[in-house]
Parts: sequence; structure tokens; C-alpha cells
Amino acid sequence: MNLVEQVKNAGVVGAGGAGFPTHVKLSSKVEWMLANGAECEPLLHKDRELMLHFPAEIIQGLQLAAQSVQATKAVFGIKSKNKAAIESLEKNRKDFAFEIKEFGDYYPAGDEYELVYGITGRLIPPAGIPLQIGVVVNNIETLYNIYQASQGIPVTHKFLTITGLVKEPMTVRVPVGSLISDVLKVAGGSTISQFAIMESGLLMGKFVKDLQKPVTKTTGGLIVLPADHPLIQRYTKPPAMMDRIGHSACDQCSYCTELCPRYLLGYQVQPHLVMRSLGFSVMGPELWNKYALLCCGCGLCTLFSCPELLYPREACERGIENLRAIGKGKWEGSTEVKVHPMKDSRRIPLKHLMQKLGVTQYDSHAAFSDVKFEPDQVQIPLKQHIGNAAKPIVNTGDKVKFGQLIADVPDDKLGAKIHASIAGQIREITEQFIIIERA
Ligand code: SF4
Ligand code: SF4
Repeated sequence: MNLVEQVKNAGVVGAGGAGFPTHVKLSSKVEWMLANGAECEPLLHKDRELMLHFPAEIIQGLQLAAQSVQATKAVFGIKSKNKAAIESLEKNRKDFAFEIKEFGDYYPAGDEYELVYGITGRLIPPAGIPLQIGVVVNNIETLYNIYQASQGIPVTHKFLTITGLVKEPMTVRVPVGSLISDVLKVAGGSTISQFAIMESGLLMGKFVKDLQKPVTKTTGGLIVLPADHPLIQRYTKPPAMMDRIGHSACDQCSYCTELCPRYLLGYQVQPHLVMRSLGFSVMGPELWNKYALLCCGCGLCTLFSCPELLYPREACERGIENLRAIGKGKWEGSTEVKVHPMKDSRRIPLKHLMQKLGVTQYDSHAAFSDVKFEPDQVQIPLKQHIGNAAKPIVNTGDKVKFGQLIADVPDDKLGAKIHASIAGQIREITEQFIIIERA
């Protein structure tokens, strides 16, 4: 069996957030294979911890992936501040000739477009993917999973950082489908009674509305903050109110655009123009909404740049939705991309970003802990990836072994296989989940 089949059978998807099925990426032929270790979400340290504790597996994952796509160059992108992780990779280098490209401590260093440009000097076409310019990018944890797949081990667990107001901030490995409420207990629970949780990041992550939500193959971390923290208040503002405030208070200063990482890379993203769609819509909002189409949702404009504390990122998200609804969701503008001359001098240091977000005091090392967490029940989502949801191939009442295939996707459809993350009995199957109770 070749690596592509092994990775497909193991249900590997991009663990860094998007969840794109990895076997599809590995089916291509490219020049560059990049490892994205430039973790940039404040307070999350999962990838750094993985490089420190599993360097040999990650390097072998990169080597196997590079061989699979016949890449001639293999490069890790890592922040210079993570010296111990860099040393850990260097020590385990053996005979595989990979390079390490170091980045400064700014946000969003780990954005795929930024990383590809920073390492290769190539710019991904507007609305395109790295493959179009001869590049494949895999997250650090994905490379670990590729190595595991080569050993016949499917994806059953997820690494994540649990941090903020918990008793013992740490990075751990938990079964996919574990409930957030249970996972919190691994870190000793919250230190305050009135808390709120952000999942997978303060900027690109999501506010957790329901603690009974499961961890998926793409969950990067859980950040516990006071329920009345200004960041939580911003995330819980109703969209209509965000629009109303934007309509009345945006003075078109354009700071949101001038500091937008995608705009500075040379793409036609201009959130201050999108903000006009909230008020100046005589000619139709689509006139302005098209400047949202290449937005990556990094959140800098809303959470850092706007002096009025408005919501340009959310305006972009709704602008894209509205354009899709009328069949105009594809980028049809210029394909020319020219890096802004001020790009390097307008980078946002992570330290400043954390101060602005009011989270500096919650930063902790969150070192990896090999604690064994065995929940009594897991609720495994059938769609944890880009593409089609997997279809259950088990029935309620069946007994399943750890690592057994429980949901599959037809060969001709994009998607990823799902495996049992604990041994037990299928308690319930819904359109969204398979629930397994520990034997
Ligand atoms: S930074 Fe804020 S006030 Fe200025 S243009 Fe953007 S949304 Fe409007
Ligand atoms: S979220 Fe804002 S800053 Fe980020 S890419 Fe979109 S418009 Fe630019």
C-alpha cells in the first residue's frame, strides 16, 4: 500500500484548522513540501510542544510526504523564539536534508499564504491554493499523523492546548469526540465559576456556546477566559448590532485595510470598503462586498486595527455570504498580486496583539503532559473535514474496537474516514454523530 492509501485509510485531515483531507494533497506532484510550525494564535503552544516531544515522528512524516509528492525541497517554517523546538528537530535530522526557515513573532505568521511567500517567495494566486504554484503545506500535527498512518495507525486522538484560567495549563492528547466539559477537567477545571471558552484560538477560533460540544480532528486548543472578558463580549455581540454600530461609527479611516495581512501581501482585500456596504448601499452592497472575497478571516482588523472597535472581519464574512447567495461568490477580479512596499514594517508583533486583546496575563508555557484521558463516552462528528460527511458503517448496539473504522466516504467523493477513538458499544447514531460508550 502506498502512502496516499495509508493516509486515506487512516482518515488524516489537516489538523491545523481547515481539515482538508491529506491524501488528496499527497496525490500531487510539487517542488516544495512545507511544514507549518509557525503557530501564531496567542496562548496556543500545541505545535511547539509536538516538535519538542515527537521530533522523529514529525520529521519522518515530512520525509514521507515529500517523497510522495516528489518534492525536491522540504522546509519547516518555525518562529525563531521556539529555539528548543528548532534544536529538537536539528538533533533528529539524521540523513534527511530538510531546511528550517525561521520567522519573527508576529501574527499571522502561520497563515498559509504568508508562510508560502515567506519560504518560497511565491504568491498563491487570488482565491487559489499552494498546489497551483508547486507547493504543499502540512501542519506539524498532520505530519505526525502521516507518520502514524504509515505505521497503520488511524487518527483517533487530537493534541490540544488547554490554557487560560484553568488550574494546570497544559498540552494534551485526547480521544476525538471527547466533550469539552470533560477535557477541561484534565487541566483541573476552571479556576473561576463564571467562565467562557474560545476554541482553537482567540482570533480565528470560535466562542464555545455549548460545553457538550466534542473535540474534533481540527480542534487546536481551549482557552478559558472570564465570562465578562471584553473579547468574549465582542464575540457574543449579535450580528445585527455589529452592523448597526458599523453603519453609524465607521469613519472610513481605513486602518483596517492598511494593516490587513492579505492586503499587504498584495491581494484585493479592503475591509474599509466592505464596511461601506453597511450604509452606502444605493448602488447595491455587492459593489463593496467584492473586496471581502479574498479575506482569510484572520480577525486582525476587528480585534487589533480598528480604533472604533468595529467589526470589519464580520462585515467581510457576511459580505462573502451575501455574494454567495446571489451566485457571485467567486473571485473574478485581477489575478495580479504585488506585495505592498510597507508589508514588513506593518507586521503586528504577537506581544502587542496580546496586550490589545487583554490576554497577556493568561499566557503560560502549557507544556505537553502525557496524561491518559479516557472518557466514558465520545461523540464523534461525521463531518470533521472539508468535503462530504462520512456515512456510518456500524449500527446502534454494535461493539467496536479502538481504532475500528466506523464511518466511511465513497472513493469518488472528497472526505475522510472516521475511526472509533475508544473501545465500546455504539449507543446512538444521528445524522451528525456516532456516540460510543466505553465498554
Ligand atoms: S478601521 Fe474601523 S473605523 Fe476605520 S475604516 Fe476600518 S472599520 Fe471603519
Ligand atoms: S479578517 Fe480583516 S485583517 Fe484579516 S484578512 Fe480579513 S479583512 Fe484582512
